[in-house]
Amino acid sequence: MGKDYYETLGVDKSATQDEIKSAYRRLAKKYHPDVSEEPKEVAEAKFKEISEAYEVLSDPEKRTTYDTYGSDAVNSQFSGGGFSWDDFTHAEDISDIFGDFFGNIFGGGRSGQQSRGPRQGNSLRMDIEISLLDALNGVKKEVQVPHTVTCAPCKGTGGKDGKVSTCGQCNGTGQVRSVRQTMFGNMVSVSDCPKCHGTGKSYEERCPECRGSGYTQKTSKVEVSIPKGVDEGSTLTLRGLGDASYNGGPPGDLYVIIHVKKDKAFDRDGANLWTGITTTYPRLVLGGQEEVRTLEGEKVILTIPKGTQVGSVLRINGKGMPRSANSSTRGDMFVRVKIDVPSKVTKEEAELLQKLDNGAGPKKSKIRKKLDDLSEKI
Ligand SMILES: [Zn+2]
Ligand SMILES: [Zn+2]
Repeated sequence: MGKDYYETLGVDKSATQDEIKSAYRRLAKKYHPDVSEEPKEVAEAKFKEISEAYEVLSDPEKRTTYDTYGSDAVNSQFSGGGFSWDDFTHAEDISDIFGDFFGNIFGGGRSGQQSRGPRQGNSLRMDIEISLLDALNGVKKEVQVPHTVTCAPCKGTGGKDGKVSTCGQCNGTGQVRSVRQTMFGNMVSVSDCPKCHGTGKSYEERCPECRGSGYTQKTSKVEVSIPKGVDEGSTLTLRGLGDASYNGGPPGDLYVIIHVKKDKAFDRDGANLWTGITTTYPRLVLGGQEEVRTLEGEKVILTIPKGTQVGSVLRINGKGMPRSANSSTRGDMFVRVKIDVPSKVTKEEAELLQKLDNGAGPKKSKIRKKLDDLSEKI
């Protein structure tokens, strides 16, 4: 009895290549033995079954043979007279889903598709801490970046004086097919040539500088320009300052993550800054002035209106953080008003306070009136 590959993958006879591929990928996610909820033997059998169906239906020639003559006809084309993992040539179609542990089964490591052509080097990440004042003004910071760079004497070829020839192991293709013993039997995978790292190039004598790797370790001094207004977690991308590519591609990038230290006097809320001042009870009652410092240390006179309550918030316009790196306007500075309650008072002060307190209760408004009259005279 023939097998119904269309049914196995759950697709129509008229399915397109893309539909077949996505059906296979969906089922592979379900039945891959490393992730499947089924018992291991069931998953392995099922995974092999869908892989066989996919091997046939994804190949237009095999699919035509199958459509015309049935599964027996294609089966006889497989190496051992039936499908085995040796015949499976599409590991790369699902290797992105299973990442590294897929490599455990297929032994391939990087998938064939990604390995073609030069690859960008690894990108690196670095964290920098700056003060809130630096975030206000912007700052230039010199940092040390340990990374790999293309070896200068051999221009990254790995060969002495840059002399290169075609790699003998892969005949310049950069890829090798390898057969591996696994729990599924023998498996074939296509992977980067281990000798030339997929470059297809080789050399007779190793470059003494990099011992053939094509790159060297270096710590580069880099000046990072941090724009004004940056916030906690802002990321700057410095192109090309990551690791060198090992096969002639562009270098990776350097991502600099900015951390803004907590300030002792100021809290930040986007473009606004919050701080506090301590004043006196009479100044709240009668109105008055206090000197406050902005983040940059400038002295500003803050007017306290008559009758200001403890905990009130007063605003100083334009003394917050820059609204953006390109903006010339700044947010505002908010000042929360506190008073200092003395724990010790003189006899004279106590008497004065006692007098004030006589106005508590129903008479309070009278005292208030007196104080208001007084403040008007001032
Ligand atoms: Zn090679
Ligand atoms: Zn070198």
